Amino acid sequence: VSRRQAETGCPVCGQSLSGMGSSIGSGIGHCPNRWCERADRAFSVVFALGVHDGALRHAILRYKYQRELWWADVFARSLAHYLRAHATWFEEFDLIVPTPAYTGPQARRSWDPVGEIVTRLRQVAPLWEIAPGAVVKQGETPPMQGQPWLERQSIASGPLRRSLAVPDPARVANGRILVVDDVLTEGSTLREVARSLRQAGALEVAGLVLARPGWRDVPRPGPT
Ligand SMILES: [Zn+2]
Repeated sequence: VSRRQAETGCPVCGQSLSGMGSSIGSGIGHCPNRWCERADRAFSVVFALGVHDGALRHAILRYKYQRELWWADVFARSLAHYLRAHATWFEEFDLIVPTPAYTGPQARRSWDPVGEIVTRLRQVAPLWEIAPGAVVKQGETPPMQGQPWLERQSIASGPLRRSLAVPDPARVANGRILVVDDVLTEGSTLREVARSLRQAGALEVAGLVLARPGWRDVPRPGPT
């Protein structure tokens, strides 16, 4: 797994550990994202095209909140380029699936930004099998953004977990699956998606995101 991330970065999420505290004896910095050091995170690693900052962050905001749909093509081509540029990292993966969104009645958002990107991947990344709908979200759940850690975890392991389903377990059984999302915050959503896919028989679930936080953006422990 460590071969996939820069040697100085977190082996799970890839963010730079320079300047972070070192764990005693190992000389390896701690990742500020607490899921990275937990064995029960359910996902193996998260690949990120960039850091959630500057032009990339701005583009994601324009896409998600102004619904500037042409970004879907830009992001799909960027993901396809990344997959090709690191083909040896990704050759073992069988399926690419979007992080599921709920768009039915009472949905906070009536369209699915990540689904739109992954659907466009079909045209530009023909070597990979794209499987929208391999995992689905069947109802709206409370937003985790801005909530303290305990509240986020209670949403993730409660309503979010209950809302996720794998309609055709045979499709993912024994597979290695890349779950695409726009932004990684701490991996609580990815963990639940990975958990549902693993329970359906997937061997490995990894994340592939447009942007991960710089370490200052990672939610900090304790009350904020
Ligand atoms: Zn990490």
